[in-house]
Amino acid sequence: KYNFCAGPAALPEAVLQQAAAELVDYQSAGLSIMEMSHRSPEIVAIAEKAEADFRELLDISNDYAVLFLQGGASTQFASVPLNLLGDKTAADYVNTGQWSKKAIKEAKRFADVNVVASSEDSNFTSIPAFDSWNLNKDAAYLHYTPNETIGGVEFMWTPEVDVPLVADMSSTILSRPIDVNQFGVIYAGAQKNIGPAGLTIAIVRKDLLGKSSSHCPTMLDYQTAADNDSMYNTPPTYGMYLAGLVFQWLKDQGGLAAIETINCRKADKLYHFIDTSDFYANPVEVASRSLMNVPFTLANADLDKQFLAESEQAGMLNLKGHRSVGGMRASIYNAVPEAAVDALIDFMKDFESRA
Ligand code: PLP
Repeated sequence: KYNFCAGPAALPEAVLQQAAAELVDYQSAGLSIMEMSHRSPEIVAIAEKAEADFRELLDISNDYAVLFLQGGASTQFASVPLNLLGDKTAADYVNTGQWSKKAIKEAKRFADVNVVASSEDSNFTSIPAFDSWNLNKDAAYLHYTPNETIGGVEFMWTPEVDVPLVADMSSTILSRPIDVNQFGVIYAGAQKNIGPAGLTIAIVRKDLLGKSSSHCPTMLDYQTAADNDSMYNTPPTYGMYLAGLVFQWLKDQGGLAAIETINCRKADKLYHFIDTSDFYANPVEVASRSLMNVPFTLANADLDKQFLAESEQAGMLNLKGHRSVGGMRASIYNAVPEAAVDALIDFMKDFESRA
């Protein structure tokens, strides 16, 4: 079966097979990884390799700390202002969808939030032109959401601003190469392209560490994780192990340039099919369409239920769109094979011909 879930999302079959084989007795240690101390040589080695492979995949320099955290991307909505405001009070945010809105709402608890641009008027189907952004030069940072998982809107460019750039990359990280040096902080919940839910990764430029507010909880302070190799408390060891297997799998695929080629092919096929059909539609402006999340509607919404029931029967799972958008959504993360997209298009054609 093919899993098009937006998250927790599909994992590579090879990763699941390896994890299953190693679950009960890890490398003849007589223990499961889940039973091992985070101070054990096995877990320390797993964590070190996962970080090294992640750094290699994204070409992350030593100017950045890589932090394995918990609490999901949603906790980062608070951690970012708590760590980055320093002696400033203002922060800039771009509003391009439901996840931007949640980040903005949380940041308002800590900062004077200036929404520099919003596409809410167009129902989040576009990205406001950069030259229209109302940037504040005194902002502590600018936060944006490079890929809006729900709306299927993705920045194919990186804003160039004078303040540290903060990106919620939950649903785009590892889908293609990026230049980490353009960012102050990148964070992502793991449950799409990294691994299982429960792990969160933050990439923090080291000069931004040590500026947290005095009210910042110890566990949310990036410095705590950086000083303790992400092991201040008990980290999500099993999630780190699985993420490590995913990073190795990605390296085996040829790294991010290779996976980008496949991802572009998958997305292009699906959008092309949708655009050439009178029955299906995607509302997002062409230049801002997501590589990872493809929402689409049927010409007749009364057929949505039937489409979902039949697609599920045909082995294509979790195609229901988010309740705020309606219709369908195919999330085609790294671990969703091209064959899944081909099968989906075949099914959509067949459904259309019978509708
Ligand atoms: N940001 C984006 C872009 C997301 O897609 C999600 C979850 O799907 C979140 C934040 C929230 O992540 P979490 O559930 O890890 O808190």
